[in-house]
Amino acid sequence: MIVPGATLGLLGGGQLGRMFTVAARTLGYRVTVVDPDPRAPAAEFASKHLAAEYTDAAALDELAATCAAVTTEFENAPAAALDALAHRTVVRPSGASVAVAQDRRREKEFFATNRFPAGPFALVESAADVDAALARVKLPALLKTARFGYDGKGQARVGSRGELESVFREWKGVPCVLEQFLELELEVSVVLARAADGAVAVFPIAENSHARGILDVTVAPARIPSALAAEATALATRLAQGLEYVGVLAVEMFVVGGRLLINEIAPRPHNSGHYTIDACRTSQFEQQVRVLCGLPLGDASQHTPAVMVNLLGDIWRSGEPDWEAVLRHPGAHLHLYGKREARPGRKMGHVTICEEPVSRALDVAMDIRAALGIGEGESGLPARSVQRG
Ligand code: AMP
Repeated sequence: MIVPGATLGLLGGGQLGRMFTVAARTLGYRVTVVDPDPRAPAAEFASKHLAAEYTDAAALDELAATCAAVTTEFENAPAAALDALAHRTVVRPSGASVAVAQDRRREKEFFATNRFPAGPFALVESAADVDAALARVKLPALLKTARFGYDGKGQARVGSRGELESVFREWKGVPCVLEQFLELELEVSVVLARAADGAVAVFPIAENSHARGILDVTVAPARIPSALAAEATALATRLAQGLEYVGVLAVEMFVVGGRLLINEIAPRPHNSGHYTIDACRTSQFEQQVRVLCGLPLGDASQHTPAVMVNLLGDIWRSGEPDWEAVLRHPGAHLHLYGKREARPGRKMGHVTICEEPVSRALDVAMDIRAALGIGEGESGLPARSVQRG
């Protein structure tokens, strides 16, 4: 067990790193953050910030020499850097499991080999693959770059062979995955922590709605039948076991025709798990610290229903948003990530509304969104669920 007082290393200093750092500091650890951005959100809370690239040999040497354990907050942390560090200190999750999550091809192959349910897909790595891909995947479809896509970036809807070929060309032939475009009834996600001894703690299922490819609202617990929630929990647990995963893992799933299909996994805490900070006995970030340090896992149960609303840079369009309109609600918890520049679509913070029953939390979320001018022209809140709870 790595006891408080030790120094932990973190690759990546974005908002997920910031919330990890807060949790680690609260537990009494020191944190060294590596992030090339001198204004990385995690740096404000870190004991030390190394403003270097993730492959920088001197920075990695310093982590290895001074940190009792190292983790990451984003899936594009170079797996090779994690592997190199693993020879010199504790690294969780492993470079091998991050490598699966950071490449859609490896992810899909992992799902297929282990018989995890997923939608029809095909690899498109060269123009010669198009025929075979279209034999397996019906149009319309989504073309997604195998690597470095996030928040709907690096993906395009294609309705014809011509469109598919022209998008693939436009992307300069980078390796892609073609996925059938599915009629989604609902999107849910499961965040869990798996310890080195195999112990697993699963947070309640989150129900997610997206706007412009970016997570907009999470309702937790998801308003789905309990049998489906149990199935999602079992699926995510089996996936973590199959990957021999150690750390916090997020599994995004679709509900299609009443059945669960896995969309993708993230080897880290997840935006849809932010509600755990205010609504669960242990947050996803505290779990990340606990797994990293070999502490017992915390209780992942939820004490209050919650609705999380993302705050994107768009709402700074006429200056600083009216925070009083958020904070006057006693159940609303405001989290801002300390980013200085608000750009459209940039995740600047979130609000979690904890209220009993969940319909009350949704009403408050609606009021807050209206006051902040969120989702104008879009429904925002999840209109449908498989079963209203
Ligand atoms: P991703 O980056 O793969 O998580 O995709 C971002 C969002 O696009 C998802 O949360 C869904 O709302 C939507 N999406 C992704 N893949 C599909 C698909 N195969 N069919 C329909 N919608 C999808």
